Amino acid sequence: MNVLVTGGAGYIGSHTCVELIEAGHLPIVIDNLSNSSAKSLQRVQEITGKAVPFYEGDVRDEALLDKIFAEHAIDCAIHFAGLKAVGESVAKPLEYYENNLCATMTLCRVLAKHGVKRIIFSSSATVYSGDNEMPLRESSKTGNCTNPYGWTKYMGEQILRDIAKADPEWSVVNLRYFNPVGAHESGKIGEHPNGIPNNLMPFISQTAIGKRDHLNVFGNDYPTPDGTGVRDYIHVVDLAKGHVAAIDYLMRHTGEGVFNLGTGHGYSVLDMVHAFEEANGVRVPYEIAPRRPGDLPTCYADPSKSREVLGWEATHDQNDMCRDSWRWQSWNPNGYDE
Ligand code: NAD
Ligand code: UDP
Repeated sequence: MNVLVTGGAGYIGSHTCVELIEAGHLPIVIDNLSNSSAKSLQRVQEITGKAVPFYEGDVRDEALLDKIFAEHAIDCAIHFAGLKAVGESVAKPLEYYENNLCATMTLCRVLAKHGVKRIIFSSSATVYSGDNEMPLRESSKTGNCTNPYGWTKYMGEQILRDIAKADPEWSVVNLRYFNPVGAHESGKIGEHPNGIPNNLMPFISQTAIGKRDHLNVFGNDYPTPDGTGVRDYIHVVDLAKGHVAAIDYLMRHTGEGVFNLGTGHGYSVLDMVHAFEEANGVRVPYEIAPRRPGDLPTCYADPSKSREVLGWEATHDQNDMCRDSWRWQSWNPNGYDE
């Protein structure tokens, strides 16, 4: 299968390229490199021995998408491209709506024009309303997003759902990711956040390597076993394999499918700190800080629908996540920068 991968130079996209190639598919990447480096795709080639066709440019550029379709017989698309920093989305809502929603709409228009009505969309657990009981099922309540980034995922899903409703030829899969962490076990690709990391795992690994003085633990008075926030961390390679499983589903079904990609296990911030220290024999100094506005106490998936329908299940454990994050971080202290 020839798979158009938007945002394929990014963190999840580059890992998915590896798994697509390993499964016998050909990823064709478009990325404007606004939050990534083309070096990730060189590394994908080092891992797999296969070159990835790469187009540098914006998904909102319809002429460029047409060119890609002219040069490759595309079978389906995986749409990772998007801006993803929650805090930045609050400060720059228009940029987020413009980039994330216009890219999705342009891509769908071009897919339809070329008769390729198949798309997998990177959605997020953030689309779930904060007042649900845990674990979250695909049928749990959505909406009440707390920031523009979350709304772009909510609206992106809705756009695709409506397209699939209007035209029975469309096949749409909305994948709701929980908390992706870790890196490819080769240590060659991983997450390379710009500036100060917002997410827990890159902050832990940058603290362990000495780039950050200490980790701020955002709140220890939540109603959780140790008082710190609980999340469903999932190894990025498991997440990437979830996309390969979703392609099989996409080719056999029409309409909309929505699936959680999580492990079903919740770990607290301090669980992650201690697991990281144990897995890697390093210290992660931390201090308790105030709660971060908008954070939920607990968030984890019920992944049973993905297991039953997609035949997909996460296989990497917390130790694998911590070990692989550290291998990437310690071998590439500056990410893809020299
Ligand atoms: P990332 O920033 O590493 O990857 C996104 C890629 O898209 C980047 O390479 C960026 O340069 C590119 N891009 C952005 N806008 C573009 C545009 N208009 N045209 C072309 N390229 C563009 O992020 P990631 O962590 O790999 O996330 C991939 C997707 O998964 C995103 O849509 C994100 O919102 C979603 N997601 C991520 C997480 C997470 O925690 N990482 C959780 C849930 C959902
Ligand atoms: N967190 C933290 N310190 C940090 C970053 C995150 O204590 O520097 C906590 C955060 O409050 C949440 C968990 O770690 O409980 C996961 O946060 P992250 O931003 O990685 O993902 P989120 O679930 O918010 O999307």
